[in-house]
Amino acid sequence: MKIQMVDLQRQYLALKKEIDAAMSGVLEKAAFINGPEVALFAKELAAYTGAKHAITCANGTDALQLALMALDLKPGDEVIVPTFTYVATAEVIALLGLTPVFADVDPATFMLTAAGIEKAISSRTKAVVPVHLFGQCAGMEQILAVAQAHQLFVIEDTAQALGAAYTFSDGTTKQAGTMGHLGTTSFFPSKNLGCYGDGGALLVQDDALAEKLSMLANHGQKVKYHHDLVGINSRLDTLQAAILRVKLPYLDAYSSRRNRSAEFYDQALSGLSGIKIPKRAENSSHVFHQYTLTCAGVSRERLRSYLQEKGIPSMVYYPVPLHRQKAYAHYKQAPEGYPVSEQLCAQVLSLPIHTEQDEEQLAYITKAIRQFIFQD
Ligand SMILES: *Cc1c(COP(=O)(O)O)cnc(C)c1O
Repeated sequence: MKIQMVDLQRQYLALKKEIDAAMSGVLEKAAFINGPEVALFAKELAAYTGAKHAITCANGTDALQLALMALDLKPGDEVIVPTFTYVATAEVIALLGLTPVFADVDPATFMLTAAGIEKAISSRTKAVVPVHLFGQCAGMEQILAVAQAHQLFVIEDTAQALGAAYTFSDGTTKQAGTMGHLGTTSFFPSKNLGCYGDGGALLVQDDALAEKLSMLANHGQKVKYHHDLVGINSRLDTLQAAILRVKLPYLDAYSSRRNRSAEFYDQALSGLSGIKIPKRAENSSHVFHQYTLTCAGVSRERLRSYLQEKGIPSMVYYPVPLHRQKAYAHYKQAPEGYPVSEQLCAQVLSLPIHTEQDEEQLAYITKAIRQFIFQD
């Protein structure tokens, strides 16, 4: 039995006919840049998420950069980000001459909280980037309230949570990426909606902002060779758009399969001493980009190597919080430090989870974990 963190090969083989036909279609027309599939996919993504506009771009990092570029922030303006996240979230802030301000996260859901944001706000704070980490939504109702009270822009990093939905106390439900001013996502192959290379998109409700983002992603032009803004070159390839058009209709089924795996893990691993199963965030559905244990009483490194010996991969997302990274350690730090994120970096362990996992694999993985705990 070959166990992988994700199995992109089997996922492709299940859709081979459709994908190959879509790719041949692009190759035969040779419309590699801005072919019709790009605009069609953008429309379909907007319809799927409920966003008014979807603007495609080259990757999820560019999507974050474009979002910040569109807000006309000034050098030194502060943008609050969780310290427990992928580097891209903070990288683009620093790259644009803005100042990332790190906030600690909630120990149960691993995400930013309204209270954590409030603590990090200063007179220079202009925006906050909640990250919908591992596949569920941060507490957006409270986050949006804090942001509104302090007039902050909200950019939702939805790279890991496309398809997750959040229900507000008035009963309305919105998809991840459509609640703040801007949402960004990634189609990196291992993301929940992955293409076969790089890809990304922004979700926006405001017409003027959408137009500006399209221009920024295309050298600042609306009319060719007329550059009204200093932009970048960030495009989704037509081939990738064609692949994503085939895969988008399967996204909900993929999310269900990931949830099935997560439920199997929950049942087999709940109540074991020394490890904690991931907690569901309040008011959010979960699309399980990752299934992440917290090793609170057992040695994570010993569990990892025990699993490795049995042919079971596992990953640490993330081993080092951003405020401790060489490139980011010189930014202002919270006087109280980041105890939750530090502890998470020492204790989290993500197990294999993907759309092609079968019960036999899940049983093998959970049996190994139980063996480790009981012999320990
Ligand atoms: C993957 C990821 C990104 C970056 O996406 P790329 O397409 O790899 O540039 C940004 N933020 C988070 C939270 C991610 O997981």
